[in-house]
Amino acid sequence: MPALEGKIALVTGGSRGIGSAIAHRLAVDGAQVVINYHSNETAANQVVEAIMQAGGQAVAKQADVADFDQASELIKSTQKEMGRLDILVNNAGTTRDNVIMLMKEEDWDVVLNTNLKSAWNCSKAAARIMMKQRSGRIINITSVAGISGNAGQSNYSASKAGLIGLTKSLAKEIGPRNVTVNAIAPGFIPTDLTNELLEQMQDRILEFTPLGRLGSAEDVATLAAFLASDDAGFITGQVIAVDGGMVL
Ligand code: NAP
Repeated sequence: MPALEGKIALVTGGSRGIGSAIAHRLAVDGAQVVINYHSNETAANQVVEAIMQAGGQAVAKQADVADFDQASELIKSTQKEMGRLDILVNNAGTTRDNVIMLMKEEDWDVVLNTNLKSAWNCSKAAARIMMKQRSGRIINITSVAGISGNAGQSNYSASKAGLIGLTKSLAKEIGPRNVTVNAIAPGFIPTDLTNELLEQMQDRILEFTPLGRLGSAEDVATLAAFLASDDAGFITGQVIAVDGGMVL
């Protein structure tokens, strides 16, 4: 039997990049997947179609997860329509990079709300459901920038470091109800989010990556699928880097 057969999963920001790879992998492993997106309906529908064509089950759901009410409704309606919620992947994220002298207040607010508050919003609603079920998996997509910092990303790094604190606190809080909470910290993965940066910095990034290659969204998805599975039932509160050794 596939590892996630019968499980209901929700991936925020599942329409593109790492989120779409995670959605695909969870579906291949047998989960029914809800693909949340913000504005790119076409991309979300393409992910759904690709999953269905491969024999999996998926639906797309629009919501701005940075908004408390929309995020709560997304989680509640998922549970209502699918009957339960077993796996929440808090993946939605964005960047507004600049040195602090030039960074606007709005750049801070948008990035903190999209990357950190969204995860708190969704986790709060999901925790209620998962604690009642006495089982669940929450997986937060943080970043190596949240571990080691990055010049020009004070907003992004702070949001990702905040996700690590959220992960550890929630792991302690809801572990007694058999809900695990872990974080994945990808290194540089080619997606819409990083294309520009990678064009400028690829050689330097590879220089600091012992495994000597860039990662792929599938590298991240493999770990997400493991953390979502029953095999990972005694792992909680951990931050696992998928970065080819970059932050060693
Ligand atoms: P991406 O290709 O830009 O995709 C971002 C996704 O987030 C899209 O599906 C987007 O939806 C969704 N999204 C953005 N704001 C949202 C909101 N308010 N509500 C709901 N969905 C929202 O980015 P990515 O590279 O795959 O990154 C995914 C996650 O991995 C992010 O948290 C990022 O910080 C993290 N990460 C990425 C890297 C990397 O190198 N790529 C490294 C470390 C960590 P729409 O399609 O509707 O716009």
